[in-house]
Amino acid sequence: MENRSFYNEILTEHNMRPEFKHDLPDADIVLEGVNPSCGDDIFLKLKLDGDTISDGAFVGDGCAISQASADIMLGMVIGKKKEEALKLADLFFRMIKGEASDEELDELEEASALKDISHMPARVKCAVLGWHTLQEVLNKKVK
Ligand code: ZN
Repeated sequence: MENRSFYNEILTEHNMRPEFKHDLPDADIVLEGVNPSCGDDIFLKLKLDGDTISDGAFVGDGCAISQASADIMLGMVIGKKKEEALKLADLFFRMIKGEASDEELDELEEASALKDISHMPARVKCAVLGWHTLQEVLNKKVK
């Protein structure tokens, strides 16, 4: 129970004071991610330096889960290589499917706060929206 409220605190904190929810006017890539079943609609903005994600942000609207998940994700992938970010995305999808091991959950740091979403099918698309958008951006190979 203690853990559960700790996780909720993480999600609340990222909703009240998102660190990466702002415009990024000189972004190299902007991609919209939409989850019609809930009404979540975000624009993910990234700056790339070679193969490294040098900066990132998001704007848009959506439920608490979609917004917290996108904010946590950006905190984890900024400064990482594309390849590492894609690995984290894979791990996140595995966690949401309930397939991640304890070690893998550790690797997901704050994102593991969304672990219980795997028991709430209606909210899964909210939790993965940011990560799916990131995956799409990085696989696009835009300069
Ligand atoms: Zn949602």
